[in-house]
Amino acid sequence: FQRLTSGMSRSSQAIGGGIVSIFTKRKLDADTLEELEDVLIQADLGVAVASAITDRLSAERYGKDITDDEVKSILVAEVEKVLAPVAVPFALKPDKAPQVVLVVGVNGSGKTTTIGKLASKFTAEGKKVMLAAGDTFRAAAIDQLKVWAGRTNVPIVARDVGSDSAGLAFDALTRAKAEGIDVLMIDTAGRLQNKAELMAELEKVVRVLRKVDPTAPHDVLLVLDATTGQNAVSQVEVFGRTAGVTGLVMTKLDGTARGGILVAIAEKFGLPVHFIGVGEGIDDLEPFAARDFARAIAG
Ligand code: GDP
Repeated sequence: FQRLTSGMSRSSQAIGGGIVSIFTKRKLDADTLEELEDVLIQADLGVAVASAITDRLSAERYGKDITDDEVKSILVAEVEKVLAPVAVPFALKPDKAPQVVLVVGVNGSGKTTTIGKLASKFTAEGKKVMLAAGDTFRAAAIDQLKVWAGRTNVPIVARDVGSDSAGLAFDALTRAKAEGIDVLMIDTAGRLQNKAELMAELEKVVRVLRKVDPTAPHDVLLVLDATTGQNAVSQVEVFGRTAGVTGLVMTKLDGTARGGILVAIAEKFGLPVHFIGVGEGIDDLEPFAARDFARAIAG
């Protein structure tokens, strides 16, 4: 958590800085409200949330002197209001044997790393974990997942590059059932360059999993890279349509990204947010906490 706050406060200085520059000198009037709204929109919070914040400020404080801290506390409260309903802890369901977790997202978003971190977490909770290297297009993705399987000491189902990913998913789930695995996490390809192909492939993976277990996949986690800003919105749209996303993970919040886009996404889609990635290490995954995130955004 320390890492999150330090990383994010660094990254959210643009918002804090923007507010400071507006409010140290002026009364709250139409100009300052408009400037503040611009700062919030530039921070990717989305027009709806930005307006809610400025509307509330306007209603409560128009024409009066206002301090930076007062603006920040309203900002935190409004952002938390949007994030609280989506801050849903990821649940391991005891009755699934195994619980099938499909992990989707564009290449480089942090799918493989997140699977590795989750494998470590679930193993520490006493669960039997298995991984499936379903991104059969990239040799590097297969190799990376093997490294994580070794590091966390869990079995992995992998095939050569170019193999059929749906076939691999079928075999992995069959094997996981036979071996009494609790959680099967399946990596997938993320080539957004060819949306139709990607869609067809993900749909096929889901269809084939359901031949083994009609209730699978139990979770479809979409991994979003915080540094991609507005792009994340269209990724939620594409993967939401294709794969039936059930929850989100946002990675790379330890860098310069503010993560403001998560507020816009929460407002627009209302999808549960389970975890945030705050580094490349095995323990650099935190449960998503609305108030901490709102505070970090406000700087
Ligand atoms: P994939 O292509 O979606 O499987 O993405 P990877 O898991 O291979 O991650 C791409 C890069 O991002 C790798 O260099 C990871 O180490 C890095 N990465 C993943 N998550 C995080 C994070 O939370 N913070 C930082 N700083 N880097 C991350």
